[in-house]
Amino acid sequence: MPPIFDKPTTEKYDYVVIGGGSGGSGTARRAAMYGKKVAVVEATPYLGGTCVNVGCVPKKLMWNAADLRDRFRHHAAGYKFTNLGDPTFDWGAFKTQRDAYIRRLNGIYATNFDKEGVEFHQGFGRLTSPNTVEVTLPDGKGKYALTADHVTIAVGGQPTLPSDEEIPGASLGIDSDGFFALEEQPKRVAVIGAGYIAVELAGVFNALGSETHLIIRGETVLRTFDPILQETLTPWMEHTGVHIHKGSKVARVDGVKGQALTVVTDKGDKIEVDTVLWAIGRHPSTKNLGLEKAGVKVDERGDIIVDNYQNTNVKNIYAIGDVQGKWLLTPVAIAAGRRLSNRLFGPEKHKNDKLDYDNIPTVVFSHPPIGTVGLTEPQARKKYGDDAIKIYKTSFKSLYFSQVDQDLKEPTVYKLVVAGPEEKVVGVHIIGQGSDEAMQGFGVAVKMGATKEDFDNTVAIHPTSAEELVTLR
Ligand code: FAD
Ligand code: NDP
Repeated sequence: MPPIFDKPTTEKYDYVVIGGGSGGSGTARRAAMYGKKVAVVEATPYLGGTCVNVGCVPKKLMWNAADLRDRFRHHAAGYKFTNLGDPTFDWGAFKTQRDAYIRRLNGIYATNFDKEGVEFHQGFGRLTSPNTVEVTLPDGKGKYALTADHVTIAVGGQPTLPSDEEIPGASLGIDSDGFFALEEQPKRVAVIGAGYIAVELAGVFNALGSETHLIIRGETVLRTFDPILQETLTPWMEHTGVHIHKGSKVARVDGVKGQALTVVTDKGDKIEVDTVLWAIGRHPSTKNLGLEKAGVKVDERGDIIVDNYQNTNVKNIYAIGDVQGKWLLTPVAIAAGRRLSNRLFGPEKHKNDKLDYDNIPTVVFSHPPIGTVGLTEPQARKKYGDDAIKIYKTSFKSLYFSQVDQDLKEPTVYKLVVAGPEEKVVGVHIIGQGSDEAMQGFGVAVKMGATKEDFDNTVAIHPTSAEELVTLR
């Protein structure tokens, strides 16, 4: 096993990072690559942070399982597979296997640290001055201080839950961390929220056969996404069996934990379930971090304020990833962290490195998945004016679904938002099977400033769905 440090090994480090998640690991390893003396302080025994332990990775595995069940149950018969029966999903056995895989990833993170000379200090990190991080060892085994020329805060965030004062019985529910701890599949579940996590986890529950209720305040899910995505996904989720309770807020949750629960909405609906899952956003993990002591400023949400170079208001203290509240995505945290280390410790040519937060592609692992990059149509119209915007869109059923019952054919809808006489592509919004994988390449195109003509000049790949994006009229 790679070592875990429980005391400093030098009087002064070049770089100390608080948080061993996506961003913290990325920035620490890059600094070590430049030969710097680096320590990462991580509160849990498990490196990799939210993404590896209770986020992207286990979520995508669950999405894969859900996708497979859809294919067995809904699509395979159309392709003339027989003797299919009704495959049942062994949630508990899969969880054991999934957890073991995550532990392997934790080990790979620790081994990489060891190989590259990054010290893993397991303990709670707290700033006691602008260049000192106090480490509190687990189980009250003591404290010590790490002193550094540069300190980066990469502590990420955690799920937001209403208090029992705000919503009586709220604490009877779980959050996304609780989702990954579930040993058994709930028969009936209510998911509250309308963002990435609510949509993804409700989709997983539904496809795996739980009776799924989704309670949303508005009329559609993903209200910050392009309207075409909201308008396509919301009815399709309903069509596939998710009970969406629109325009509804939870008034209270009744019952006893571990037994049947009743979610009562402000409309008077009473929804009987086994599990209630809150997915109403996340907030930064800055409690007891010593920000006040070091003088680091936060905004009204509590997110650490940084400039374009990830500098906080205090010299030599930086913040990256979810804790700075912008684009809560793993690759963003990693990219910002690596660029920060390039700038601080790398060769002259990297002295101005910073992450460009424009045109970040992202995917929602819904059923079917969504990919999006750039401006939504309303954002583009606001920025460029109605006259400068042109929309190209198409809606179709992909070849894959030609062999599947009418009722089970998933929608595919693509939209390009283009601006100005040169028809620069400023937004790509796609939903449909394969959109998750297709998005990365279109992300490159938009980042490079591609025009509609560039799309048209690209030869299509046939037969795919994504080819429709280069043949739009
Ligand atoms: P984190 O990865 O959260 O790491 C922070 C680390 O700091 C943690 O290990 C924590 O234990 C540690 N820490 C906190 N406080 C202290 C302290 N005081 N001292 C020491 N250590 C501390 N993003 C995607 O790009 N794709 C996805 O598909 C995706 N799916 C997601 C699904 C779910 C359910 C969730 C919750 C998130 C998902 N995300 C996804 C978001 C992604 O996980 C985060 O954006 C990413 O993990 C942020 O990285 P970070 O380094 O900022 O923080
Ligand atoms: P989001 O910010 O995506 O969505 C939360 C939604 O919950 C809001 O948009 C809002 O929708 C609704 N909401 C907020 N407050 C309340 C409330 N009090 N009662 C009811 N509904 C409420 O947060 P998530 O927790 O879903 O995810 C956090 C972040 O993690 C995401 O923004 C994303 O960056 C990242 N993530 C990325 C994934 C990916 O890349 N695939 C997957 C999962 C997470 P409305 O206003 O419509 O009510």
